[in-house]
Amino acid sequence: MSSIKPAPDVPFDAEAPLLIVGAGAAGLCAALAAKEAGAEPLVIERDVLPKGSTSLSAGLIPAAGTRFQRAKGIADSPQLFAADIQRRAKDEANEEVVAAVSHGAGQLIEWLTDRYGLLFDVIDNFNYPGHSVMRMHGLPTRTGLELINRLRNAAETSGITIVPECMVETLLVEPDGRINGVEAVRGDGAQERIGCEALILACNGYGGNPDLVRRYIPGMANALYFGHPGNRGDAVMWGDALGAQSAHLGAYQGHGSVATPHNILISWAVIMQGGFQVNSEGRRFCDESQGYSEQAAEVLRQPNGIAWSVFDARIATVARQFEDFREAERTGAIVTRDSVQALADAMHVSVKSLAAEWTEIEALKTKAGKDRYGRQFAPEQHLAPPFHAVKVTGALFHTQGGLVIDAACRVKRKDDTVFPNLFAAGGAAVGVSGSTAAGYLSGNGLLTATVLGRLAGKAAARLVR
Ligand SMILES: Cc1cc2nc3c(=O)[nH]c(=O)nc-3n(C[C@H](O)[C@H](O)[C@H](O)COP(=O)(O)OP(=O)(O)OC[C@H]3O[C@@H](n4cnc5c(N)ncnc54)[C@H](O)[C@@H]3O)c2cc1C
Repeated sequence: MSSIKPAPDVPFDAEAPLLIVGAGAAGLCAALAAKEAGAEPLVIERDVLPKGSTSLSAGLIPAAGTRFQRAKGIADSPQLFAADIQRRAKDEANEEVVAAVSHGAGQLIEWLTDRYGLLFDVIDNFNYPGHSVMRMHGLPTRTGLELINRLRNAAETSGITIVPECMVETLLVEPDGRINGVEAVRGDGAQERIGCEALILACNGYGGNPDLVRRYIPGMANALYFGHPGNRGDAVMWGDALGAQSAHLGAYQGHGSVATPHNILISWAVIMQGGFQVNSEGRRFCDESQGYSEQAAEVLRQPNGIAWSVFDARIATVARQFEDFREAERTGAIVTRDSVQALADAMHVSVKSLAAEWTEIEALKTKAGKDRYGRQFAPEQHLAPPFHAVKVTGALFHTQGGLVIDAACRVKRKDDTVFPNLFAAGGAAVGVSGSTAAGYLSGNGLLTATVLGRLAGKAAARLVR
């Protein structure tokens, strides 16, 4: 599993100019870009049908300066976007890569729309923490399943071959670090050696590998992993064996609002629109508006590792644009009552504590004041009955550490030189979130999957045409 071997001196079973490991957002954007640039990519995917963490996501991609923003009067620029990314990442993200993704994201959204018919629009009824302006672009259902299905259709229509049920285990390496092929195992157990002139690693991070999570992110070792189980850290392990640089292996995207025991993502719109969280004692415990990623650990620190997200009918209307939220309503995860007392009873929390928190928050909203944790409440966000609550826990969504790359997605060695024909994008590469969960700006996951995927595809195509 996940090894490297010297390139053997015998013919391969099959050959492709450009191999891509993984058919998530990164792999498919890479394949589309490479094909357009005149290369013939072959995408290898361990699952029967490509899904990846991409399919589990809300499919929201942040982008600056798009025509969708302009149509809604939203003024934005790649520079403002880059500044938001770095502010969040405490300036720990690689500047070149941040420039590449912040400039490339607008083009990516318009490329996928114009060339492949993905119908993006920009969410304009709430903003995500850390973004100076509204720049989250999503497809009509606001699901990653729609995103991955549309990318797969685009790839198939473009004549790109995706080999399903095939897991890459070993990279075959020349003495100079050039990758000249891979060994893969088919679903029926058959081994295959496939030669290549260039290789793109698009097989995401190590969230699905409990040993690596324990080693690099011990604080989340016992948390629910909500990403794709097939993302077992192959890129990082191959990189290690090759002598590649990796960075920020303790960084991750968490989420502090996964309905439990239903395991359904509850949109952070619930908080950003004026909702709040209390623990099982009915007490608030932090400034939940900071961000959903770092909130995962905050929630897990509470008794029994749970919290309640509390909101109202107005907020539910905003959250209902997400299929996940509608699913949570259908499955009975959302509690609804007409008074604070009845809601507290249904949540089995102290009425006195919940009512005290509620009164304080509503008073703060009236004067747009800050609470004891520093959270600023907006005057237009008063809660009115019927009230809602949902029991949530914190979860690990995906890891943000990975292989260090340059702005063309070429994987770097420890001495800062690049491997001759090895590229990484998406969760396989280090993200732009710095070294902590708090550095994750909403959308950094699909931003680096799609934009870096496209850049990797273009750059790799130049090597093999
Ligand atoms: C619940 C949830 C919600 C999220 N919401 C958002 C959001 O709205 N916006 C956002 O920006 N990010 C979001 N994210 C993060 C986002 O989903 C990921 O950052 C992104 O999908 C990563 O894309 P990827 O292509 O790198 O990986 P993936 O989509 O996971 O694709 C990797 C593929 O590689 C395959 N693979 C792995 N190893 C091998 C191997 N050895 N051989 C062959 N195939 C292999 C896997 O089967 C998989 O199909 C969310 C994540 C989760 C879990």
